[in-house]
Amino acid sequence: MRFSSFLIKYAEIAIKGGNRKFFETALVQQIKNTLKHVEGSFRVVRMNGRIYVECLSEYDYDEVTEALKTVFGISWICPVQRIEDHGFEDLLEKTAEYFRAVYDRLDFTFKVEARRARKDFLVDSQTMNREVGAFLLDTFPELSVDVHHPDVLLRIEVRDENINIYSKEIKGQGGMPLGTAGKGMLLLSGGIDSPVAGYLMSKRGLFIDAVYFHAPPYTSERAKQKVVDLARIISRYTGTVRLHVINFTDIQMAIYEKCPHEELTIIMRRYMMRIAESIAKENECGCLITGESLGQVASQTMESLSCTNEVCTLPVFRPLIAFDKQDIIQLSWDIKTYDTSILPYEDCCTIFVAKHPVTHPKAEKIRESEKNMDEVAEALVRAALESDEVISCNYYQQNYL
Ligand code: ATP
Ligand code: MG
Repeated sequence: MRFSSFLIKYAEIAIKGGNRKFFETALVQQIKNTLKHVEGSFRVVRMNGRIYVECLSEYDYDEVTEALKTVFGISWICPVQRIEDHGFEDLLEKTAEYFRAVYDRLDFTFKVEARRARKDFLVDSQTMNREVGAFLLDTFPELSVDVHHPDVLLRIEVRDENINIYSKEIKGQGGMPLGTAGKGMLLLSGGIDSPVAGYLMSKRGLFIDAVYFHAPPYTSERAKQKVVDLARIISRYTGTVRLHVINFTDIQMAIYEKCPHEELTIIMRRYMMRIAESIAKENECGCLITGESLGQVASQTMESLSCTNEVCTLPVFRPLIAFDKQDIIQLSWDIKTYDTSILPYEDCCTIFVAKHPVTHPKAEKIRESEKNMDEVAEALVRAALESDEVISCNYYQQNYL
């Protein structure tokens, strides 16, 4: 059946009071942005505390629902038949038509759940439940009623001038509408973790910019393309990702020359955080985001994380901190970054990695070692910041370098 509309349900608890309009407006905007890439003509409207996508032309059901499933803030997508109010007799007919059109076989158990928000509709909810149920049983003899565990829950809502009939709810992304929490700077490598971390934080309402530390000629253009591709894949959910590519080679070489090798990774990560923070502040990002997970590698022990943390003032969000690798992998499958993440291109961290990195670094010791960089650090960081190449990554546009 061609549904006339999609009713968009969102978690209302989080958006009570004065914030409600702000969240709804952001959600409507994101739905519109997403539907621009879907064939057909749609109108997105807020009506009596509800959001509807009205379908004004032919459309492909799967394409529309798949698109809506990428929008943060939507908890359920309900394909709904919105009919005009021509009285109760007409409503009975329409519910039967609805069943006929939506289900191939009418041999399941069902329950009617009617809600009458508009009190000038003369039949109350209880009566509607009973009468519609009886009418459908009469019309389709193979149906039966199960009020506790029905196969199909048929909802009838008399709200505004129209009446909603629906029985399907498709699970949405959940989370908060994009942008309602501000913007964050994601440290995006070519690995499995950081794209997932970006996706998860964006799901809480953050727009995402990203920074990638590139070390040519030790890391190739293919490695860079892989990061661009990852940014593009997550942008399906996060919206356009402005990816900053920073040339990190000279900093890495200097660290390699001047600092104890077992501390390379920690010191390198401190420089990454400093530079990322600087770009974040320039681009109105209020936090940094990394894909770190406690204990995953030497640079992700509590002491190591504390050493990398101390060089920044912005909060660092690490949504994967308590995740097992397998659960991160599962998410990367779900958001379709996995296949790209596992492509075997070199990463700047792996090239300079020490045989025996410290696992429990002391901050004073690291600070001391870093003093060896004092003479060159400022110029190197400045040069790195100047190397910033911004690539706009958008799911609906291919980026080839
Ligand atoms: P990932 O799978 O995200 O690469 P990882 O398990 O390989 O993570 P590390 O290499 O220790 O872990 O990196 C930890 C985090 O540091 C990454 O999740 C990412 O946020 C950031 N990071 C590492 N390398 C880079 C890089 N070259 N450019 C930008 N960010 C990076
Ligand atoms: Mg990595």
